[in-house]
Amino acid sequence: MVRGESQDRKTADTIREVYEILLSEYGRQGWWPVTRRKGGEPEYLGGPRDRRERFEVAVGAVLTQNTSWKNAARAVSALSAAGMIDPARLVAASHDEVAGLIRSSGYYNQKARRLGILARYFLDAGDGPPERESLLALEGIGPETADSILLYAYSGTFFVVDAYTKRLFSRLGGIRGNESYDRIRGLFEGSLERTPEIYNEYHALVVEQCKRRCMSVPVCIDCPLSPLCASETSRGEG
Ligand code: SF4
Repeated sequence: MVRGESQDRKTADTIREVYEILLSEYGRQGWWPVTRRKGGEPEYLGGPRDRRERFEVAVGAVLTQNTSWKNAARAVSALSAAGMIDPARLVAASHDEVAGLIRSSGYYNQKARRLGILARYFLDAGDGPPERESLLALEGIGPETADSILLYAYSGTFFVVDAYTKRLFSRLGGIRGNESYDRIRGLFEGSLERTPEIYNEYHALVVEQCKRRCMSVPVCIDCPLSPLCASETSRGEG
């Protein structure tokens, strides 16, 4: 089904309004945290500042697939403590060693293999931002992971769409939720000022909203988005 232009304009208005509301409700989220001390916890200190930290963001983007950031962050710290936030050392390490270090992130055998491929890619690549298509060609790097790397490691203007984005905006009524990744990404990128700062903050705010209120079973009471929300749950319980 092709949406009409007026529907897209309405969605664009909703997208802009939601950003202002969530930013005012939750404030700046401080993404993406990185380790500044060997083995330390990832923390936000203004984003990645060099090649090592950009690689760490990419590693974190793989580790957080299908798990919480909390679990992924423990694995990032373990890799950092072992000096493995380094493409050359990661490529040289054995599969079992890497898998053992990242156990907390789940799917550790699969993720260890993916990290090896990612590390090889970073080792062969130059210093500049990777091409989106070349990231997507790597095993286990889908559009959400690729865009997370491009946005959070390289400040590229790539809006990250995840399951939270689909859940929240299908409840708000802006999308159906079964549109393609690129269709939803296009809606956001066409509605917002094209800056990495806004894309960075917006994705993080959506995650925060979905962790605090718009969960699988939403808690609509006092939700700052309830005046905009088309969800039956909101009307029934909000
Ligand atoms: S009102 Fe409820 S369903 Fe709507 S966005 Fe808020 S938490 Fe989600």
